Amino acid sequence: MKKFYPDLIEDNVQKIDLDYLVNNNIKGLILDIDNTLVPDYIKEADDNTVKWIEKVKSMGFKICIVSNASIKRVVRFNENLGVNAIPRASKPRRKSFMKALEIMEIKPEETAVIGDQIFTDIYGGNKLNMFTVLVKPIDKKEFLLIKVKRLAERFVLAKYAKKK
Ligand SMILES: [Mg+2]
Repeated sequence: MKKFYPDLIEDNVQKIDLDYLVNNNIKGLILDIDNTLVPDYIKEADDNTVKWIEKVKSMGFKICIVSNASIKRVVRFNENLGVNAIPRASKPRRKSFMKALEIMEIKPEETAVIGDQIFTDIYGGNKLNMFTVLVKPIDKKEFLLIKVKRLAERFVLAKYAKKK
């Protein structure tokens, strides 16, 4: 059972304490896309993801996307990010995780796997003794609600700016 337990559980990637990872000697992140960074119907990396990836990079982490999705999906998503990426990864199989380590030139114990699925992301990472972080799958409705909220916020702020 232990192979299915994540080391950490968070609501979303933005909430992951990156300093904590640094303090645990984590040097690189293996990232899932679908329902981890964006819902599966979002084709390109959104602003939140771009910002978060920039922050992760600026802290010195290496990054590799490891996704079971198609080449087309992963390439399109990665256009705005330009990070290492392995599509059609067949997680939880070891092969793509090992390839990611090779690309990032780090050891398993220096690597954190971040994903929304226990039987692919977490189990795959744990098999190789990586640090594993489970995030809650991004819910479609919730995501749309956030988008609507952002729009409303922008509207209010624009009005506010005009008044000033
Ligand atoms: Mg996923």
